[in-house]
Amino acid sequence: MSQKIPYITKEKAEQIAQKYPTPFYLYDEAGIRNRARLVNKAFAWNKGFKEYFAVKATPNPYILQILKEEGCGADCSSLTELQMSHAAGLTGRDVMFSSNETPAEDMQLAKKMGAIINLDDLTHVEFLEQVAGIPETICCRFNPGGHFAIANSIMDNPGDSKYGMTREQMVQAYKMLMQKGAKHFGIHAFLASNTVTNAYYPELARQLFTLAVELKEETGADITFINLSGGVGISYHPEQAENDILAIGEGVRKVFEEVLVPAGMGNVSLFTEMGRFMLAPFGALVTRAIHEKHIYKEYIGVDACAANLMRPAMYGSYHHITVLGKENAELSHVYDVVGGLCENNDKFAIDRKLPEIEKGDLLFIHDAGAHGFSMGYNYNGKLRSAELLLQENGEVKMIRRAEEPKDYFATFDFSEEFPELKTY
Ligand SMILES: *Cc1c(COP(=O)(O)O)cnc(C)c1O
Repeated sequence: MSQKIPYITKEKAEQIAQKYPTPFYLYDEAGIRNRARLVNKAFAWNKGFKEYFAVKATPNPYILQILKEEGCGADCSSLTELQMSHAAGLTGRDVMFSSNETPAEDMQLAKKMGAIINLDDLTHVEFLEQVAGIPETICCRFNPGGHFAIANSIMDNPGDSKYGMTREQMVQAYKMLMQKGAKHFGIHAFLASNTVTNAYYPELARQLFTLAVELKEETGADITFINLSGGVGISYHPEQAENDILAIGEGVRKVFEEVLVPAGMGNVSLFTEMGRFMLAPFGALVTRAIHEKHIYKEYIGVDACAANLMRPAMYGSYHHITVLGKENAELSHVYDVVGGLCENNDKFAIDRKLPEIEKGDLLFIHDAGAHGFSMGYNYNGKLRSAELLLQENGEVKMIRRAEEPKDYFATFDFSEEFPELKTY
């Protein structure tokens, strides 16, 4: 049971808002570092363990730098994610490149950086050879098809997912890659998203470890690492139990000793590519109530919108909300908390029990640290907010400025026809 306590007080939030107007994202450095240390502790039994943070979850070079200091690498899937990781000092073996439908120039940059390239498809063997050449160390992404189930309950549907290779293709890809000079191999799979059970990684590990033993037998390939990828979730609801990463690490260790060690593969390194589990609880969207409206329902209008945090609109996701300064007040009202997009799904909360909200109140939207800012967009001409870091010493540092109208108009800078747009 988590309580969802904001990592700032109302006073602190007001103080921050004087310098950086709402809405803004605020990340908790201490929380991020502690989480990274806990993950490393959970897998410390594995000699080569490394967490490659999924950059798409929170693409900010300051965040990547913090994670680098804690021993993490970066998992990239596009040109700009590679460029950002490189800028943050992450390159070579500190980068996994797990992309799909990959453009040639992305492959070329990944190869040039010495990143570990994870091939999503059999046809990418020849594609990579043509555009960049085959590296000595290479990874292939597996898709077992069918359903992914834990104890008979279906968690996800890999058979419907566009990623990865079939088992036969994995064998074929390994054989082709060996012929073309690859020497060391990895296996990768991402089979279920936002799992809130300690059983996901161990079950995935069992499937991948078993496959690794078979692939080694069938192809003679030297398998040096297995990447369990992302998918470890967090509890967005305060009532929901949290994953216990120490128990997860222990569960994976048991399977490792059961499957890989007897096969003489006890030297295999484990990698993860978590995004959500690493960052989601340690980022919040802070927004101010600017309107109230009483029609058939009670509405609180805030200065953030779905363009700042898309998950509720896109997936119907629950994000817990704390009204700062009213942490202990009675939940006496039922509100829809809404943003200003001309889209009726622009609602951060629907029929939510909250304390009475007055105009000017600051709302702390929890668990927005991953797949939050990064999914932002500019619909209705809405601008992206600033990203701020609450440092361990309690000081706040801007790690991305808020967009201004000039940013929104920047892609017209080729044109001389609307000179007014250059004045913003
Ligand atoms: C999105 C993604 C991740 C991270 O997923 P989370 O659910 O945030 O842990 C990891 N690897 C790949 C290839 C991804 O696409």
